[in-house]
Amino acid sequence: MIPVMIPQLGEEEAQAAAEAVRSGWVAQGPRVAQFEQEFAAVVGASQGVAVSSCTTALHLALVALGVKPGDEVVVPSLSFIATANAVRYVGATPVFADVDLATGNLTAETIDAVRTPRTRAVIAVHQGGVPFDTAGLRKAAADWGVELVEDAACAAGSTAYGQPAGTGATLAAWSFHPRKLITTGEGGMVTLDDADRAVRLKRLREHGMNVSAADRHKSSQPVIEAYLETAYNYRMTDIQAAVGLVQLGRLPGLVADRRAKAARYQSLLADIDGLVPVRDPSYGQTNYQSFWVLIEPSFGSSRDDVLTELARQGVSARRGIMAAHLEPAYADVTPGPLPVTERITRDSLILPLHHKLTEDDQNHIVGVLRELARP
Ligand SMILES: *Cc1c(COP(=O)(O)O)cnc(C)c1O
Repeated sequence: MIPVMIPQLGEEEAQAAAEAVRSGWVAQGPRVAQFEQEFAAVVGASQGVAVSSCTTALHLALVALGVKPGDEVVVPSLSFIATANAVRYVGATPVFADVDLATGNLTAETIDAVRTPRTRAVIAVHQGGVPFDTAGLRKAAADWGVELVEDAACAAGSTAYGQPAGTGATLAAWSFHPRKLITTGEGGMVTLDDADRAVRLKRLREHGMNVSAADRHKSSQPVIEAYLETAYNYRMTDIQAAVGLVQLGRLPGLVADRRAKAARYQSLLADIDGLVPVRDPSYGQTNYQSFWVLIEPSFGSSRDDVLTELARQGVSARRGIMAAHLEPAYADVTPGPLPVTERITRDSLILPLHHKLTEDDQNHIVGVLRELARP
């Protein structure tokens, strides 16, 4: 079976994790601090706050903004469900907006269509690594007086307007789950440029303590900590951060490899009618975290039939991005019309793309698609 994704983990990561274990410091400590600094620098932010996942990063971002019950937060339904769930964690109401067909992303127009006086914030997603229009959405949010949180779970290595996605974000949330480009097993980060807010976020991830356990340990004097607010345990471990530091060094190579293989897919698929592969938007570059293909009616087979045939011929593809409003967890929400979201989630699939994918694999996958195409 050709897998849809494989994390690139080597001896270096195993060594780094082993060193963290041998050091005796396995909880949040010096390696987490170093990973925060280095990751933030790579994505063009001055502050990084490592946490246990992107889901908890999104939760803390909304807590830090003071989003509360009665507030509305506009989110794409077309996203991993954690984006919408984070809004409910703070007791606010997710409001689903539609997306652009080419990028799968929110636009100022789709947000404006569902915005109300209760809209406190928007969570925009860089869908499958495809950057949203950062300049356009940040300006629109500022004009409306609405906060913009950037769900960059999939976007490490993507760029917009010549800068890393996340550069200049009020708050960007990242994921290090193995389905993303770089991984720490589980893990996430908030990046931002506001040093005071970073202090608050660090407190929120560690039980509301005014001094971290690591700093207390370093001090030669007894330190009596105080708990300033009711908070969470969303810490990353030093074992995870040790792995993340090695992974970070692999990021440029991983992105280059994925972009080369995506370009090859695009040229192999070019003459098959009714298959539209994802591409770079005009203002940026995707890291191709997900290489998705939209199936048009002219193709002749449904998405589910394509998935079944690919599986029969040894290819593990995936349905395209989910739509939260179609899931039982959101059955109590009645959104406005989301025609593009429903089309993408019904008619798209994600093809295998990873460092071990060979040209023969790609030829085989495209060969199966070619057989299925209407003659
Ligand atoms: C993967 C993903 C998340 C959740 O990330 P975790 O680190 O697994 O919590 C959130 N949003 C999007 C868009 C994702 O793709």
